Amino acid sequence: MIKKTIGSRLRLLQVPVLFIFMCSSWGAFAQDDAINRLCQQVGNKLGSVSIEQCLNLNLIDTQGRSNLKRALAVKDYSPVDGVMPLGKVLIMGGIHGDEYSSVSLVFKWMETLNKHHSGLFHWRVVPLMNPDGLLNIPKATRQNANGVDLNRNFPTSDWLDLAEKYWVKKTYRNPRRFPGHFAASEPETKWFLNQINTFQPEVIIAVHAPHKLVDFDGPQQPPVKLGKLRLRRLGTYPGSLGNYGGTTLEMPVVTVELASAGIMPTDKEIRGMWRDLVRWLRAEVPKRRQAMLEKQSTVITESENGQNNVE
Ligand SMILES: [Zn+2]
Repeated sequence: MIKKTIGSRLRLLQVPVLFIFMCSSWGAFAQDDAINRLCQQVGNKLGSVSIEQCLNLNLIDTQGRSNLKRALAVKDYSPVDGVMPLGKVLIMGGIHGDEYSSVSLVFKWMETLNKHHSGLFHWRVVPLMNPDGLLNIPKATRQNANGVDLNRNFPTSDWLDLAEKYWVKKTYRNPRRFPGHFAASEPETKWFLNQINTFQPEVIIAVHAPHKLVDFDGPQQPPVKLGKLRLRRLGTYPGSLGNYGGTTLEMPVVTVELASAGIMPTDKEIRGMWRDLVRWLRAEVPKRRQAMLEKQSTVITESENGQNNVE
């Protein structure tokens, strides 16, 4: 009788355990599924990125989702044993969905990191911030699925005063430049802000096309060239990432504007840009880190002095 009761209790226990196991397995499948689906779609869309190449990168599903529930994926190149990284670098492509080359270039750079990551920096790579724009049918769009230009949707300090005014008066309500109904209204923007907050990079590199230049916002010395691209500062726009990073966060933001949205630079040019970028990061990231440490210690000293005054 006792044996029978224990046996039936055990059987009863098996049901929830099995259910939990099935749920967690389903969660893992769903996660893989989102990355698989993204890679299938990206590989079918871009001439320079194959489905297999994308899948082999083992992108991480952050659980962040675009408007149309596509995965917002990252790849981390973490510190290497025994090597202290000079700092953290966040690279992002495809904030504008119709700038194909900006996504393909970031995939190429990930291939380089796959082969040569030495631990010099801790990299976080976002190959495609606006998947709904790139993968829109029949035609890729600059904006996200809500029709918002994500690079005008960042919560810059001037957003409330200027974003809509700028859109109306300077762009004549160009839908390609629509900043959204309020700052950080879009899931992609919120997700990227979360990446910045949690990763705390020293520098952000954003890849665009087709203006053929390097733009720079924020403190530190800008790179004078990346491959054939030369520094030309464009100024800031309300709600742009450069403005948000450079002015609001006082963080260096390098904007790489490739020469063509549809044609990739040559392999030699891609290597040259990467070499120049790493050289610049080597010089500037330690200075940035030092500046941040000094700023932190000033804040601590000031708060201690404040406490002393209270005492
Ligand atoms: Zn762009």
